[in-house]
Amino acid sequence: MITITTKAEMHAHTAAARAAGRRIGLVPTMGAFHAGHHALMKAAREACDEVVVSLFVNPAQFNEASDLAAYPRSEERDAAEASSLGVDVLFAPSVEEVYPPGFSTSVRVEGLSDVLEGAERGPGHFAGVCTVVAKLFNVVAPDVAFFGQKDAQQTIVIRRMARDLDFAVAIEVLPTVREPDGLAMSSRNAYLTPEERRRASALSRALRAAQEVAGSGEGSAEAALEAARAELEQAGIEPEYLEARDPETLAAVDSLNSRPVLIAVAARVGAARLIDNTLIGG
Ligand code: AMP
Repeated sequence: MITITTKAEMHAHTAAARAAGRRIGLVPTMGAFHAGHHALMKAAREACDEVVVSLFVNPAQFNEASDLAAYPRSEERDAAEASSLGVDVLFAPSVEEVYPPGFSTSVRVEGLSDVLEGAERGPGHFAGVCTVVAKLFNVVAPDVAFFGQKDAQQTIVIRRMARDLDFAVAIEVLPTVREPDGLAMSSRNAYLTPEERRRASALSRALRAAQEVAGSGEGSAEAALEAARAELEQAGIEPEYLEARDPETLAAVDSLNSRPVLIAVAARVGAARLIDNTLIGG
């Protein structure tokens, strides 16, 4: 594995790979790798000839400076893990390389960016995500890019951006990788104390409870949300949101019969802000 830190070198590298007929896969990340990241890298390794993993903690998508400053960083360990998974290139540019002086452009997907995570974190969050992902698509020019279902809204917003801006890239979404007790793997889980870590498993239990209600033939989304809410309450967790949405338009849905339905939850547990989701009838 080689590490590349400049856009010019990255662009030249993938241009040469493409000229040699190699299929290029990109896995965008913010580092602090866990098994969720590993699954994306393995999928890219299987599907592509040249695997690029980007590692960039993107300031533009953080709404709080303290959250950005505290974000876990482990670049050396990340590089070792990516290398052992057969990644060809770790693209780890500096903030100045990505956002040079005078940088003034923002890519914004209207509507889809304004609900759920966008409503909680502010309109800048997905604009920050889309701007950096658009830049990565331009610099790396991948044939396929790999994202995790864990960030369901992000995948929906990025698919829309790729379509709207004519990026010739296929978007692959891989299932959420979980801890044995169901907690979705996240770099932010490192913030949890042991007691919070135990309580945090209520998020996935809540989603399973919603699935069970749906599986019993219940047609009301509110009934599924009610079961999920009860699980959270038992763990003393007040969600920022817990909602049933259409997984393409993110419009609110009342009926589980208009399948599939995305159930998405976000909650603070101690210092960690956690998100998770499940697809009913997906
Ligand atoms: P991040 O480094 O948190 O920005 O995540 C990089 C990529 O890994 C994103 O596409 C995430 O959706 C994905 N990801 C994060 N956590 C998980 C997980 N538990 N399972 C699957 N993919 C994940």
